[in-house]
Amino acid sequence: MGRVYNFSSGPATLPLTVLEKVQAELVDWGGSGMSVMEMSHRGDDFVGIAERAEATLRRILDVPDTYRVLFLQGGATAQFAMVPMNLMRGGSADFIDTGIWSQKAMTEAARYGRVRLAAGGPDYATRVPAAGSIEIDPAASYLHYTPNETIGGVEFPYIPDSGDVPLVADMSSTLLSRPLDVSRFGLIYAGAQKNVGPSGLTLVIVHEDLLGDPLPGTPTVFDYRVYAENASMYNTPPTFAWYVAGEVFAWIEAEGGLPAIGERNRRKAAKLYAALDGTEFYRTAVAQDSRSWMNVTFTLAETALDTEFLRGADAAGLKSLKGHRSVGGMRASLYNAMPEAGVDALVDYMKEFERIRG
Ligand SMILES: *Cc1c(COP(=O)(O)O)cnc(C)c1O
Repeated sequence: MGRVYNFSSGPATLPLTVLEKVQAELVDWGGSGMSVMEMSHRGDDFVGIAERAEATLRRILDVPDTYRVLFLQGGATAQFAMVPMNLMRGGSADFIDTGIWSQKAMTEAARYGRVRLAAGGPDYATRVPAAGSIEIDPAASYLHYTPNETIGGVEFPYIPDSGDVPLVADMSSTLLSRPLDVSRFGLIYAGAQKNVGPSGLTLVIVHEDLLGDPLPGTPTVFDYRVYAENASMYNTPPTFAWYVAGEVFAWIEAEGGLPAIGERNRRKAAKLYAALDGTEFYRTAVAQDSRSWMNVTFTLAETALDTEFLRGADAAGLKSLKGHRSVGGMRASLYNAMPEAGVDALVDYMKEFERIRG
């Protein structure tokens, strides 16, 4: 079997044991004689799968009872619109801009109300603003930020203090990478295809007080309350992705939960950044205190060697290391399912490439 080390930013690597379990259950789930793909979402078997997935997620992330977990579609991109449609009652929201995903969220929100910059901006593509520099409008409907900018590789080392203004976070590429104090947030959303499961599923974790007052004209399928009241089954949910996500949650729990996963992720990132810091041959533009654990961006001092570096990596079974088309260079995504051995293999390859070409 030819498994590679897949550093893709998303859809991304999944735990091998999860894939094997899904494979073993593919054509006959639990003696039902059918695949999860073929089941009614309203039947007992799938309802059980769905409820277990949510219960496991609540356990591993320690989600308080006052929060609803919604299993949606449309990706994080749909949330760029769904959040303002449901929460921008005051007509204005605050944003922290730390890069491309922050800006996409702002552009979409501007269709529904006033978008105000509370911190960050064009100068913050390689660092996060200092905690004390965030200027929040107390009348804002919410403060939105991107805890981990997947493209730039910029991550907040702290949770912004938004006072009484609900805090909304696009956690697509960092949710479940370590323990998290959910109670600090009004709403968390994440496309699944980074750390949660396959694409097609979007998680929303929302405080129940924020439900039930969408902007006039909000379509039924974009109203959070409708999902909360119907166990995310107002219409047909992405059943197979939901099932696989449930298996990923169970895998996280079996690995020792988020404390163990977080410690492993910290070690993986530290190893790669140490390799980058130890030479002039490789560089990372991201400020020391803003370095992402999940998406490590770097360049070669000589960009003319990029293509050769990537070709050699590919041949060595180190896949999808090319940076996002908008920033170039390299990006190694180190999500939960990337084993430490994968990071070791990458660091070894980088040292060898430098020895030959440096
Ligand atoms: C991947 C990603 C998105 C886009 O997600 P889709 O599921 O493709 O809509 C948005 N924000 C962040 C931070 C991401 O990492």
